[in-house]
Amino acid sequence: MALADHKPVDVAIIGGGISGLATAYYLQRQAEREQRPLRYTLLERSRRAGGKIITEQVAGFGDQPFVVEGGPDSFITQKPWALQLARELGLEERILGANDHLRKTYVLNRGKPTPLPDGVLMIVPTRFLPFALSPLISPLGKLRMGLDFFIPAKRDDEDETLADFIRRRLGDEALDKIAEPLMSGIYNAEAERQSLLATFPRFRDIEKRHGSLIRGMLASKRSPKPAATNGTSPKPVSMFTSLHDGTQELVDTLFGRLTGDICLGVAVTAIAAQPDRSGYRLTLDDGTALLARQVALATPAFVSADLLRPLSPGAADLLASIRYVSTGTISLGFRRDEVAHPLNGFGVVIPRSERRPINAITWSSTKFNHRAPDGHVLLRVFFGGSRNPQMVDRSDEELLAIARRELDALLGIRAEPVFHRLFRWRNATPQYDAGHLQRVAAIEAALPTGIYVTGSPYRGIGIPDCVHQAQGTAGQVWQHLTTVSQPELAQSERTL
Ligand SMILES: Cc1cc2nc3c(=O)[nH]c(=O)nc-3n(C[C@H](O)[C@H](O)[C@H](O)COP(=O)(O)OP(=O)(O)OC[C@H]3O[C@@H](n4cnc5c(N)ncnc54)[C@H](O)[C@@H]3O)c2cc1C
Repeated sequence: MALADHKPVDVAIIGGGISGLATAYYLQRQAEREQRPLRYTLLERSRRAGGKIITEQVAGFGDQPFVVEGGPDSFITQKPWALQLARELGLEERILGANDHLRKTYVLNRGKPTPLPDGVLMIVPTRFLPFALSPLISPLGKLRMGLDFFIPAKRDDEDETLADFIRRRLGDEALDKIAEPLMSGIYNAEAERQSLLATFPRFRDIEKRHGSLIRGMLASKRSPKPAATNGTSPKPVSMFTSLHDGTQELVDTLFGRLTGDICLGVAVTAIAAQPDRSGYRLTLDDGTALLARQVALATPAFVSADLLRPLSPGAADLLASIRYVSTGTISLGFRRDEVAHPLNGFGVVIPRSERRPINAITWSSTKFNHRAPDGHVLLRVFFGGSRNPQMVDRSDEELLAIARRELDALLGIRAEPVFHRLFRWRNATPQYDAGHLQRVAAIEAALPTGIYVTGSPYRGIGIPDCVHQAQGTAGQVWQHLTTVSQPELAQSERTL
């Protein structure tokens, strides 16, 4: 699209990660369904769409490439929205489930990867024998976990931190050895600050309904599970799912379906209300402007805060109060015959108390097929976050050296990697601190008419949550568009 050619639009969508792309897609689909015209523009600062979803194919080692994920490697199917989107986009045959038969998670325990006992669902033991025999938790720690059967349930709706909740129900050891590395690992968060209700509301539900976490998990294990399908395909899917060529296949396909104006390499630098209240004027960093009746911001909360400050200082302050942490990953490929470790699981998570410079290692080519060429394996090391924030500032060479030292110390891997890829994610992971859902509700209430925020900073950080929120945002935008009559927008200026 020519730079000086911005026509006024019904909706401007800012940010081209999964949240912005999906918002555009669901709006477009709604317009098609109702056979109504829709003009929208999506503006993305980077020259590529997809945001944190990025996959690199590294060729040159045989029949197929290494498939290296820079950000997410999968989406969970218990939350069905990303899977449904993939199917709707025609990706059924490309869906790649994780190798569930190899699903075993190790927890580093005094420097040694120790299997999480069989039958531990989320963090809760549901099988007596493997749990009783596991060396991961001390006998006293196991007894303390058993007290969960007797401790009265908290029945109010007040939020609390994940750490307070786990400590209250299962004790310190369960927090340190299981919950903190597994649960806070997913969110790259500090259990001592992480909101229970914004991240694991199911635990509170179970506590309320069953009076005990263990009793509740045992009951949910017994009840038959509906298969994660969208009703059109009976094919069962794995809990962790990706696509044959990696998660980027989802955003690439989505991007290819969009028929609106898509501006890559263009950042929005300011938003002002039109004096006649017909909508908003967006200032772009290429020297042009765009008029839009409504604006959906699918940008990080601190970017949205800056953009919305002149329109709503209250919303801006709340947006700016959502903390972010920086993380990174380094993927390393090895020749299989140079790695003695069986890599018989999905990887190892590392409790904070182990005081290592890294947080986890995923055995990517065990978790998924098609991630490494024949005769090779792919591993991914996670670092940074609130535990080791300074790690992302280390040089590439230092990070590679640390990752290799850790692979040697924890898994006995000394071989020279055949390649490695490093991704730094600065200020990329929003933190859902206790009280988060109230904060988000207050933000939403303070937004001016016709302005929406959507995406990972708000009501769920995972890809399925982002898709779900996009559906909701598209619905709200569409509702407003089709029910509120507004004066016609004047033709936008060609330049500022
Ligand atoms: C290392 C890592 C591993 C992860 N693993 C998983 C996983 O396994 N499973 C899972 O479900 N989730 C995972 N996540 C989380 C998930 O990837 C993200 O929450 C999700 O992709 C965020 O999407 P988004 O569209 O909300 O935000 P982003 O992807 O951050 O998109 C926001 C976009 O806004 C653009 N932008 C910013 N400012 C402007 C501006 N002024 N004008 C225009 N555009 C702008 C940015 O360039 C960016 O493209 C992981 C994340 C990371 C970092």
